[in-house]
Amino acid sequence: MSEPSAWLVTVFGNERGYGGNAGYADVLEATYVYDSSVPNCRRVAVGDTFVVRTHTRMEGTASVRRIVVEPVTKQRQRCPVCRTTNVRSRLSQRPKYRCKNRHEFAEPTVDEATVEQFTAHYDGTYRAARGAISMHDLKTLCVAWNQNLAIQALRLDELARRLESTGARSSTVLTDERILMVAETVEPYGRE
Ligand SMILES: [Zn+2]
Repeated sequence: MSEPSAWLVTVFGNERGYGGNAGYADVLEATYVYDSSVPNCRRVAVGDTFVVRTHTRMEGTASVRRIVVEPVTKQRQRCPVCRTTNVRSRLSQRPKYRCKNRHEFAEPTVDEATVEQFTAHYDGTYRAARGAISMHDLKTLCVAWNQNLAIQALRLDELARRLESTGARSSTVLTDERILMVAETVEPYGRE
């Protein structure tokens, strides 16, 4: 059994402009949903720690208690000219769609692919810790920061130290015979 890991995972709000993905059903405090097209998807294991963030700030931490894997059919919107999935819908301009290669079209081509969908369940271990660690510091805690990765490795020991030093109360959670550090903040950080 490998050592438990910590991962920085990104949740997407409604501001996401790209039309290529049909969307992830993230429920921030309960589960994280990702699929087999996401780098590191097969490295996440039960017992691992998540630091959940949006694009702008840390939201909280969680312990992965269960991972449910199931095949799902995923619709992808493609440019009818060059087939890229990097397609953006536009609010007012017509035609409505434009791809990264600047082809413009009224409707994208839609195709379906079967992928494995992973749902990591926190089972009550999620702890809100909004802004407890700045985005700048989260980047430095990554093994190799890459803004394009939805799931990327954090240095677990340094993360645990940082959570303690920020004033977020840490608690230990025993999972699968592994002891994990999970931050616990009752009030949003910085309110005291
Ligand atoms: Zn195109």
